[in-house]
Amino acid sequence: MFALSPIAMKTVILEETACCNLCQSDDAEVVFEPGVAQEGRIVRCRNCDLMYVSPRQRVELNDYRERGEGEKAGWEVSPSGLERQRNQVRDYRHALDAAVEHAPGGKALEVGCCTGTLLNELKERGMDCLGVEPNSFAARYGRENFCLDVRVATLDEVDLEQNTFDVVLFLHVIEHVTDPIAVLRTIHRVLKPGGLLIIETPRYDTLTFRLFGRRERNIVDNWHLYFYTTETLKKSLEEAGFEVVKKHVPSRTVTPSRAIGAVGKAFRLNWLEVVGQWMAKGRVNSWCAVPLNMRDILRFHAIAKE
Ligand SMILES: [Zn+2]
Repeated sequence: MFALSPIAMKTVILEETACCNLCQSDDAEVVFEPGVAQEGRIVRCRNCDLMYVSPRQRVELNDYRERGEGEKAGWEVSPSGLERQRNQVRDYRHALDAAVEHAPGGKALEVGCCTGTLLNELKERGMDCLGVEPNSFAARYGRENFCLDVRVATLDEVDLEQNTFDVVLFLHVIEHVTDPIAVLRTIHRVLKPGGLLIIETPRYDTLTFRLFGRRERNIVDNWHLYFYTTETLKKSLEEAGFEVVKKHVPSRTVTPSRAIGAVGKAFRLNWLEVVGQWMAKGRVNSWCAVPLNMRDILRFHAIAKE
């Protein structure tokens, strides 16, 4: 999840115009024509307000499965990769605390766990952890570096028994899947009744989306197929049998190296990206880490109803 890059290559197969994943209506208005915000055409359901790509661009999962090792993959042990891992733990501290408090010593699943940085934290704190991650390189990293049980698969492909887990982490994945409600229902099935789902995704009922529109930082990502608001994500969870019990608008840790790297990427200045990489090695860089809240990320804690 964390490793996906907006500029990553992907194979796209245009499918039939999609209907709304939340309410099944096919009455939608165009928000952005293809090529305006991202490659796909983005529409908004006139019935429930869910925004999605239609005609649906089916992301060829094989592209993601095969994405290679090394610096570009994002899960390597380079200074910036290690920095990213440290920042993730910092940024998800509340979620990790909630997971452990919900079921001390219980069973946790992360859907799309990438290298397993967060899952490893839960393991260290006594939870019995399983990761599901379609990218074999990221999964191998998790197995070799954290001794985690990570299956190279999507959630659909692993045969998990129902009522198995106390906690499921589903972070920055829902916006990538073709049928979010179906995935949420599968998560509901493998969670025990009363189990906790922690879900996070970009949100678009924001000032930044109103101000920046087609240039908003998450909508430009060609890998994103769904664009939630607080309301549409809540309704989707309810549709799949969950009750939202907590809402967070979390911040992200920003370091000088990350800020400089981001500017380099935005303006395609490779040398600035190299400077960012170099800075990530320094201790001063970590000392200068600050939380930045753009108010454009939404995290829900939701309980699986019986
Ligand atoms: Zn709808």
